Amino acid sequence: MKMHRGKHFQYAPQFSFVALFFLLVPIFASPAKGQFPPAPGTGPGLPETVEAIENARVTTRILYITAHPDDESAAVLTYLARGLHADVALLSLTRGEGGQNDLGPEQAPQLGLIRSQELLAATRGYGVKLFFTRAKDFGYSKTPEETEKVWGDEVLQDMVEVIRAFRPTIVINGWGGVHTGHGHHQATGLLTPKAVQLAADSSFRARGSSSAQEVTAPWGNRRPIVLLDIDRSEKPIARKASPGF
Ligand SMILES: [Zn+2]
Repeated sequence: MKMHRGKHFQYAPQFSFVALFFLLVPIFASPAKGQFPPAPGTGPGLPETVEAIENARVTTRILYITAHPDDESAAVLTYLARGLHADVALLSLTRGEGGQNDLGPEQAPQLGLIRSQELLAATRGYGVKLFFTRAKDFGYSKTPEETEKVWGDEVLQDMVEVIRAFRPTIVINGWGGVHTGHGHHQATGLLTPKAVQLAADSSFRARGSSSAQEVTAPWGNRRPIVLLDIDRSEKPIARKASPGF
């Protein structure tokens, strides 16, 4: 399948509408030059003023990196975006086409398409942007080495491009420090710090970012990106044996 350049990541489109809305509102709402100021008591109220101050503050950009569309923590993403008013993006390395489909007959690549749409709808709800890489979800992988072999260099290059395009101040490594289980998860945890490092390296040129218009300027070289791991270490749950078993 021929991959259209630049299609491996995409913004949730509603953000452009929201941005447009906020750009246009002041044009229509503000009085024309020379017009009298609004009469006392008819200007913006305290809630509007507080909101304007909030919006004027420098936003924190957070990039949350996972392996599969269903890896993301909805609660965390929603809290970051809606609770902390951070500019949040989710980077799912795969589109999840290798997973099980319990609800219908679709298999890859249709399943990947469905998963992408589901994630797009979900991230709209969380208020976050969405990116993908060209990583194949080829089903369960036993080791990160196997995964990285299949994924090749282009996945790391796509990650670097997303970091340089979104320019996060914080990167959350959704699978950082995970050394057991699915190879895709482990590989994602290992590739994320590499991508952060390479994004800041001006000598690194991501192959695939060909056209001059695309963002290739290094990011994180002047002010290092804060890299955070999500602690996924699960405490063993003491399972009580049910009577009769
Ligand atoms: Zn997963």
